[in-house]
Amino acid sequence: MVFSFTKVLNFLSNQTIKPSNIIIFEVTHKCNFKCIHCDIWKLQKKKELSIREWKKISKQLYEWLGLYTVNLTGGEVFLINGIENLIFFNSKLGIKTNINSNGVLINDSLAEKIIQYKTHAITISLYDLKNENNDFLRGVSNVQDKTIKVIDKLLNYKKQHNSNIFINIAVLLTKLNMPNIENICHWAKQRKLGVSLQSLEDNFERTDQILNVKKSNLWPEKHLVNETFEKINNLKKSYNIINPQNQLNKMRDYYLDNKKAILKYPCNVGYENLIIDPEGNVKFCFARNIKIGNILQNKIKNIWNSPEAKKERKNVNHCQKECRINNCYYTK
Ligand code: SF4
Ligand code: SF4
Repeated sequence: MVFSFTKVLNFLSNQTIKPSNIIIFEVTHKCNFKCIHCDIWKLQKKKELSIREWKKISKQLYEWLGLYTVNLTGGEVFLINGIENLIFFNSKLGIKTNINSNGVLINDSLAEKIIQYKTHAITISLYDLKNENNDFLRGVSNVQDKTIKVIDKLLNYKKQHNSNIFINIAVLLTKLNMPNIENICHWAKQRKLGVSLQSLEDNFERTDQILNVKKSNLWPEKHLVNETFEKINNLKKSYNIINPQNQLNKMRDYYLDNKKAILKYPCNVGYENLIIDPEGNVKFCFARNIKIGNILQNKIKNIWNSPEAKKERKNVNHCQKECRINNCYYTK
């Protein structure tokens, strides 16, 4: 969607605009994987919000926004004891919950609860069907089989409970798995799974080193990018690739290093997205990681309308990064 200029004007003239795209609860920085493109698992662990506190936040958001959609993400969300209670709490309020997970901690009981508690969607990351590629990207050995078993378990419970849950796999596109994209999509289609394609970007939550992803050995050559996106565009006609076509076009430009084409689209996160991290810090995006307040010290509505939020919104307008094409920032 083209960014709504009217929306910005409305926002500047009054404070009635609310985050309309995505609310993200980043419930933990703990993770059982060591993905090569992610530094979250390296972060020094601090005290994280409890499920009781997340429920209070959820209620506060509900009172402010009415029914909204929340993405639960991490780290690995299923490392949090009692996360299913938050899903149940949201479901009783009518809040749509999407879960992002690497999947391997989902046992039988959790799988059934995810379905019974009317989760709207669950996206399990699976980067390749080639075991060695998947292991290399995830930084842990032999997880591909476990991931597939969990997906099948969720599909069984979905059938058993006649549920409408969307079950997707998330595939991070790299030089390694791009040649296998057709197989991955075909495998997903056989199981009636959605495929969410994700682009490689500089490490989230950078720690000691800044990985320039475009110079890394995961970055594909231009001919591979062109071939892959030609395949993806064809596959999209008959496979459930959930990224909209215009996002796929921008992703191709991104991989071709066509910065100009990407930057002509403004980034909307300051008007649409709201992220709450495991310590209660509130921000618009992961990549800038600028905190505009903390939920333990102020109401979310006040944080959204605070001078810090206004200042960061202005800075976002001038941001020269390209992550605006990525799924959690992308404006449909
Ligand atoms: S990408 Fe996800 S699964 Fe991988 S280390 Fe980071 S938080 Fe964990
Ligand atoms: S372009 Fe990326 S870093 Fe910049 S504000 Fe948007 S999401 Fe954040």
